Amino acid sequence: MAEDIVYLNGSFLPINEAYISVMDRGFMFGDGVYELIPVYSGRAFRLQHHLQRLEQSLQAIHIDNPLKHTQWQDILTTLIEYNGGGDQSLYLQITRGVAARREHAFVKEMQPTIFAMSSPLTEPDHANQTGTTAVTVNDIRWQCCNIKAITLLPNILMRQQALEAGASEAILLRDGHATEGSASNIFIVRAGMVLTPPKSNLLLPGITRDLLMELCQANNIPCREADISEADLRNADEIWITSSARDVAAVVKLDDQTIGNGQAGPFWQRICALYAAYKQDFRAGKVS
Ligand code: PMP
Repeated sequence: MAEDIVYLNGSFLPINEAYISVMDRGFMFGDGVYELIPVYSGRAFRLQHHLQRLEQSLQAIHIDNPLKHTQWQDILTTLIEYNGGGDQSLYLQITRGVAARREHAFVKEMQPTIFAMSSPLTEPDHANQTGTTAVTVNDIRWQCCNIKAITLLPNILMRQQALEAGASEAILLRDGHATEGSASNIFIVRAGMVLTPPKSNLLLPGITRDLLMELCQANNIPCREADISEADLRNADEIWITSSARDVAAVVKLDDQTIGNGQAGPFWQRICALYAAYKQDFRAGKVS
């Protein structure tokens, strides 16, 4: 197989030839932000939404976007082509750049490091409807979870805790409320209503989350934002987790407790079909 091609600071090159300095503030401090964008049939899915969120993350950490949206679009289109089109997962990262010394303070006029790569995308298989499992953990993160920061140590530790408990995701609790997953947003269904926590500094504004809400609205599925207490979560008829990597997955077991009847529920079946149809339309070029 041909070697993966990546983008680094203006050049496309084989991944094994892509290097950054150890003085890069991404390496030293985790001082940067990222995006993960699925590509279906050669096209980046919800690209404008991802670029908009990238813009917000950059703004929040005081880095000027080094590229215009059209330039991002061109780079990503070329990267997709270099890596064979079809389905892929794009990762892009911007750090504050390479500093002369390891010093917390920003240095003026630094050149941000711009990196993008492509990885294979495995679409989740929802066909068997068996759902997935999650455990609750204390949200040990900071107060700026709306920034898609590359500094993911808390998320990694919480995900690992879930994996070691035999579950696939950690659902995070902070001050008695469920905020999101370690790498996903959460929804619950209660008495015929789909609920998800409102956007705030305590969770990442997920692109999949927003699409799901749009799909609910367009298809008359009652859906609204609401705080979800731990009790709401535990008593939910259905729990879903959403992300670009998982689409929408039904959680059928939370800690030691079965959710619903232990199978993916009827609301999930509906939203999953709508989501699949939307992706199909995207593949066919019917939606942008
Ligand atoms: N929350 C967190 C903490 C995440 O890491 C992710 C995935 N990157 C999400 C939510 C879901 O976001 P998206 O739907 O944009 O993939």
